Amino acid sequence: MSISLAGKTYVIMGVANKRSIAWGIARSLDQSGARLIFTYAGERFEQSVRDLVATLDGNHEIILPCDVTDDASVEQCFAAIKEQAGSIDGLAHCIAFAKTEELAGNFSDTSRDGFLLAHNISSYSLTIVARYAKELISEGGSIVALTYIGGERVMPNYNIMGVAKASLEMSVRYLAADLGRQGIRVNSISSGPIRTLSSKGVSDFNTILREIEEKAPLHRNTTPEEVGDTAAFLFSDMSRGITGETIHVDSGYHIL
Ligand code: NAD
Repeated sequence: MSISLAGKTYVIMGVANKRSIAWGIARSLDQSGARLIFTYAGERFEQSVRDLVATLDGNHEIILPCDVTDDASVEQCFAAIKEQAGSIDGLAHCIAFAKTEELAGNFSDTSRDGFLLAHNISSYSLTIVARYAKELISEGGSIVALTYIGGERVMPNYNIMGVAKASLEMSVRYLAADLGRQGIRVNSISSGPIRTLSSKGVSDFNTILREIEEKAPLHRNTTPEEVGDTAAFLFSDMSRGITGETIHVDSGYHIL
């Protein structure tokens, strides 16, 4: 199942390991014939990202550090992309972080520091990345971010990350209005829960996975491949009329 993205170039931000949703997106885009550029958070992720990228069919040589909490790091990353690739056709933002202690217990106990950290990494990062990326994205290009239903309604233990996702989803709409003038689309995919490094931090995650199997219309959990194929659609011209949208890829759980 693949859309042709041959001749197109996309930046994938947020591969940590083979379980990362960003890696599911990378595999779908690789199968679609796209050229990929990878960014990783810091040195500790570099080798695992390089090892994974080597397993893809395409030859994706540009792999760069980008810490989204550091303006200079984002600026340098996109300067390097411009120098090495010229223009790009889009970007997948698959980045989030909250302190583990904030992903359990009472929401009213959220610390100021934890609140700001979650918003900085999980929400503001999309805006600063879009600011640099828009200079490189060609007309008709597309930005895709990842969100979760905990940004629309209260989900157990998701706490501050839910508030950060609400902020991210609204940023998607403001960015869609802003970048639409340049012909760039901005959308998000609201993924069902998937076991990854980040989701391990959410207390009682297994209960959430079981609830999807029991209650979601499709009675199964979401796979990174399903999210990856939806991202390929959002990057392709097949979705050219869609911007500012949140598409749920969650076995239909959100309708309940
Ligand atoms: P993951 O841990 O594999 O990916 C999170 C990524 O964020 C990592 O690659 C990490 O290095 C990166 N990151 C953290 N701090 C950073 C920083 N300062 N600079 C740059 N990168 C940084 O987990 P994932 O579940 O694949 O998460 C990817 C996205 O999907 C996140 O936005 C997450 O909220 C979203 N999402 C996940 C689920 C789920 O159940 N796993 C569901 C819906 C949405």
